Amino acid sequence: MQESLEEQRAGLVKSMVQRGVIESTELFNAFMKVKRELFFREENRQYAYVDSAFPIGYGQTISQPSTIAVMLELLQVKKGLKVLEVGSGCGYVLALLSELVGKKGRVFGIEIVPELTSVSLANLKKAGIENVSVQYGDGSKGLLEKAPFDRILVSAACEEVPQALIEQLAPKGRLVAPVGPRHTQRMVLVLKNEKGKAETHYPDRGYFVFVPLREY
Ligand code: SAH
Repeated sequence: MQESLEEQRAGLVKSMVQRGVIESTELFNAFMKVKRELFFREENRQYAYVDSAFPIGYGQTISQPSTIAVMLELLQVKKGLKVLEVGSGCGYVLALLSELVGKKGRVFGIEIVPELTSVSLANLKKAGIENVSVQYGDGSKGLLEKAPFDRILVSAACEEVPQALIEQLAPKGRLVAPVGPRHTQRMVLVLKNEKGKAETHYPDRGYFVFVPLREY
């Protein structure tokens, strides 16, 4: 018999724990709670718990769950924080971030494909998520009017971390981005100290392929 989507979700999360990509209880709970199928088109929902990226239209994809887990473990999102996701696409990662920051936290998404901003808002509504707002625009320039952010997640590949994003990171903030040429990126972690000085780290988490961050 075909497993239910609930069973498939639990199975995928368990395999991410076994592979060591999910380490924290908070991330485990967030992945168990958010229904990834709500961020898929109706006809593709049976693919929601395959651990791979999937087309969401407009030439973009929903990111692979284990890749998201690697990024979120590096980002260390805590309750009450203010977080920005650059390249929020269909909104799935925004939903996970919303769980991680809790009711007192706030999450902002910025997305360059206008149709996807509306799709993501509709998806988040279906998922009953309220502490997230999504804006259309070029996220390589950040979101100045809401800055500074305690955490910034870049969900598209960049050749280097845009300076505007580092500037919009709060003291003691963390930023995670996939950095590298078109077909291979590695995770980069930027940490800001309490005096506002940024330091770049290159944690070894393997290679990834993201859609490019468009810069203007
Ligand atoms: N975070 C999404 C996946 C996003 S894929 C998820 O939940 O699965 C990367 C997204 O970055 C795409 O939707 C793409 O349109 C967007 N993007 C690319 N360049 C951008 C830019 N300069 N500013 C904002 N969004 C951008």
